[in-house]
Amino acid sequence: MKCIFCGSEDNKVLDSRNFDDTIRRRRECNNCGRRFTTYEIIEKIPFLVIKKDGSRQNYDSSKLKDGIAKACAKRPVSEEDIKKIIDDIELTVQNRNLQEVKASTIGEMVLKALKDLDEVAYIRYASVFKDFQNVEDFKNLFETI
Ligand SMILES: [Zn+2]
Repeated sequence: MKCIFCGSEDNKVLDSRNFDDTIRRRRECNNCGRRFTTYEIIEKIPFLVIKKDGSRQNYDSSKLKDGIAKACAKRPVSEEDIKKIIDDIELTVQNRNLQEVKASTIGEMVLKALKDLDEVAYIRYASVFKDFQNVEDFKNLFETI
C-alpha cells in the first residue's frame, strides 16, 4: 500500500475497521509522516455446496442466514452473532481453499457455533439439520449437551 503523498510503501496501520465487505484502514506514512485512508475489498470467492443427494448448488449466504435465524427466533442471539457464524464459516472455507463443501459440513459448523451461543437454538437447528423424526432423536441429542 503506497503513500498517496510520497509513494513510499513504508507505513503503519493506525486503525482498521470492517464494513461488511470492506476494510477501512487508517495509515500513517513512515517516510513523510502524513496520514491517509485505504479501503480494501474482502473478496468472497464463490463455492459450491454439495447436498445430501449429491447435487451441487451455489453457496448462498442468505439461505444459510435464514436457517440460522429461524433456529434463533426469540432467543438471545443477535444479528451480529449470526453474521459472525456465517463469516467464520466462509472464512474457514476460503482458508482451506475449498471449491466445494458438503452441506453437512456447513451444518456441523453452524451447530458447533450455536452450541456455545444458545442451547435452544442449537437443538432447533439440529432437529432440522439432522432431520429428526421422533422423540428418541431429541433424547440422543440432549445426552450430548
Ligand atoms: Zn509518505
